[in-house]
Amino acid sequence: MADGEPIQIMGAGLSGLAAATILAKAGREVHVHDIRDDSGARFDGDFQALENWSMDVDFFDQLVEWGFDISEFKATEFQVVDLIHPDDEITQAKSPKVSYRIVERGTSSHTIDQGIKRQALEAGVKIHYKSRVKEEDCQVIACGPKGTSAVAYGEIFHTDHPNHIGFQLNDKLAPGAYSYLIIIDGVGLICTCLWRKQKKSERFLNETIAWYENHYPNLNRKPIKRVGGKGDFTINRNYKQDGRYYVGESGGLQDFMWGFGMRMAVWSGVLAAKDILGECDYEQEVRTQLMPYVRTSVANRWLMNRVGDGMFKRMCRAWMKDQKKRGDGLVWIGKLFKPTFAKRILYRLVSPFMLEKDSKAMGRGVRRMPFRKAKKRDVWQQSKQAEEIGKQWDAIRRGGGKTSFQDDSDSATISDK
Ligand SMILES: Cc1cc2nc3c(=O)[nH]c(=O)nc-3n(C[C@H](O)[C@H](O)[C@H](O)COP(=O)(O)OP(=O)(O)OC[C@H]3O[C@@H](n4cnc5c(N)ncnc54)[C@H](O)[C@@H]3O)c2cc1C
Repeated sequence: MADGEPIQIMGAGLSGLAAATILAKAGREVHVHDIRDDSGARFDGDFQALENWSMDVDFFDQLVEWGFDISEFKATEFQVVDLIHPDDEITQAKSPKVSYRIVERGTSSHTIDQGIKRQALEAGVKIHYKSRVKEEDCQVIACGPKGTSAVAYGEIFHTDHPNHIGFQLNDKLAPGAYSYLIIIDGVGLICTCLWRKQKKSERFLNETIAWYENHYPNLNRKPIKRVGGKGDFTINRNYKQDGRYYVGESGGLQDFMWGFGMRMAVWSGVLAAKDILGECDYEQEVRTQLMPYVRTSVANRWLMNRVGDGMFKRMCRAWMKDQKKRGDGLVWIGKLFKPTFAKRILYRLVSPFMLEKDSKAMGRGVRRMPFRKAKKRDVWQQSKQAEEIGKQWDAIRRGGGKTSFQDDSDSATISDK
């Protein structure tokens, strides 16, 4: 790519805008194209967590070092989480440090998407919404998920409950994954993640909401909308090919175990921009800075796929025991995410069986974690309370309540108006 040529970026999400901002600040002409009508529209008010345990460096320090203004979006810090065991015991995981930050995704001005977008525009980036471009015509591919490896469904509601976070390991309510409750300043989210493909998946959300209603009786939940989306987990042979950089979820750069992806999205966007500016080698940096964590998460996911509530309970106990010993709950969870020799070996052994080739990936050697099949134990009858919650939502939907995610296809969320 010649120095003066405009740079075309496909996708105005976190990774695309991060790359665009760095490039524009360096004086390059940058055009970002997005098929939706705004950045963050894919998420529509969803709360997401920026974990702060997997790496020694704080992500917000990294953002500042890369030149981003972190006061441009709202981030709520937490040092404690209710850890909900599969047998419904609730303990608290805590740390003297910031354990994670909750940000909102979407089109409201305080969301991380809009905060980064403002910085991109200020740097001179030209963003073209509702713009369809070809992958071949772009230098940075940042368009989020293509395939589906897992899904998450959530309900956003008004509440008068104080700020609170709950994280639940329960294989019935969240097959192969976890559910969570997030409450920030009068707005709550109850979400369940499905790492196994299900029929009638709404029953998992209804039952999860029923569970939280029973165990957090002061929620006083007034539903607003339902949100969610799919996650695409891939390992790529090449992250840069034919002059194109694959960043964020388009490059599969996410945590396979639990789906954390925002940090790697921004990070990979920054690295791609630096390569274009001649400051680093993207392929090399992705391999040294990000892939050890991605590979570890593949090994973790493989292990998770093999266990159920019995092992989840043992994990919760081990976490709490370690926290008591060290006085810091972040150490145990941090170790789970950090690369080790054993996890590297496990990755090598299991990844050929766990990942499937994507023949449509323009020869980049993409291998995807398939959406796994349901297990026999995933078939159960909704409780009466969950059925009522489903009916309550149907009534709200009929009255105009929005669902930003109807099925497993990304295109389902894109209006062609
Ligand atoms: C329900 C849910 C909950 C999640 N929770 C967390 C969490 O708590 N913590 C965490 O770290 N991560 C979480 N993730 C993952 C995280 O959202 C992603 O890893 C991250 O957003 C990826 O950033 P990206 O820039 O690759 O994609 P995005 O931020 O999704 O941006 C992609 C953009 O590309 C656009 N686009 C799509 N197709 C095209 C096309 N053909 N042409 C042009 N533009 C296109 C889209 O409209 C979108 O604006 C969650 C994901 C989901 C679905």
